[in-house]
Amino acid sequence: MKSIEPDSDVYRTLLESTKAIPWKIDWATATFAYVGPQIEQLLGWTPQSWTTVNDWAARMHPDDRSWVVDFCIAQSQAGTDHEADYRALTSSGGYVWIRDVVHVERNPDGTPKALIGFMFDITEQKKTEQKLLELQRQLEEFSFKDGLTGVANRRKFDEVFQNNWADARRTQQPLSMILFDIDCFKQYNDCYGHVQGDECLKMVCHALSTTTRAEGDFFARYGGEEFVLVLPNTHALGAQAIAERCRSAIAEARIAHAASPVGPLVTVSIGAGTIVPTADDDPVQFLDSVDRRLYRAKQGGRDRLVTDPA
Ligand code: GH3
Ligand code: MG
Ligand code: MG
Repeated sequence: MKSIEPDSDVYRTLLESTKAIPWKIDWATATFAYVGPQIEQLLGWTPQSWTTVNDWAARMHPDDRSWVVDFCIAQSQAGTDHEADYRALTSSGGYVWIRDVVHVERNPDGTPKALIGFMFDITEQKKTEQKLLELQRQLEEFSFKDGLTGVANRRKFDEVFQNNWADARRTQQPLSMILFDIDCFKQYNDCYGHVQGDECLKMVCHALSTTTRAEGDFFARYGGEEFVLVLPNTHALGAQAIAERCRSAIAEARIAHAASPVGPLVTVSIGAGTIVPTADDDPVQFLDSVDRRLYRAKQGGRDRLVTDPA
């Protein structure tokens, strides 16, 4: 088949009818040898107003300018084709996201002779990207939050506990944990119904989570009617004081529980433990030891705190 060489008119028509904006910069003089007329439609500046590379740099968002200019100069000097995304200033004062794709034309000695490129309008792409990032952030936030109470969930607890454990092992500071379990909650649901049960969970959660604590302390819904506090850099006596404050907060919330054999109000049983973890300690074992104290608080009559290990 015979091949047909397009003449320069064909090239020009092709270049100037595409959405991408072609341009050429002469390296030695740092001036524009050519800019496609489409630039005026996109940014509002006439092609004639693009004289030197300074016009290009000046019509760029100030936050993008220095890294884009430095990057493009470095890449060009190295003779490397490259691309950069930045916000270009429009004549009306707005910004348009541009992807500049640059080919470096080189002299026989390797130095840059000219830069030839295309500017693409990527505003829509950037908007979609931003939306996706925001969605991703929201999804992550939701995946670590308990839907009913709004506090951190078990998944988040696992992550935070693991990090606190590692920190405590490194710093050899005491790490404390407090487990709470609502007493006779099955009877509460049976007596008041599940909807009221949910409200009770929210009230208990609020009372526990707003009890004064230090920065870095972490509260989560551990399971159905179980909550957990992780207290880094907290010794046993400190944890005990906080646990007692939490028990008082539940008492002060005065949530009626007519079906409880413990008393007329909702109460919680609490297990608390403290450890300075060494390489021989296991976080799951520690958690289990605190859970066993909670169990002993139940066995001992509920509405109480157990801190001693056996
Ligand atoms: P104990 O004093 O020994 O802790 O008795 P309990 O009845 O509280 O203990 P158990 O763990 O046997 O029962 C917990 C109940 O909590 C059972 C379950 O139906 C209820 N529950 C768990 N999650 C929710 C929830 O999200 N909403 C409501 N309304 N109830 C829940
Ligand atoms: Mg329970
Ligand atoms: Mg319970």
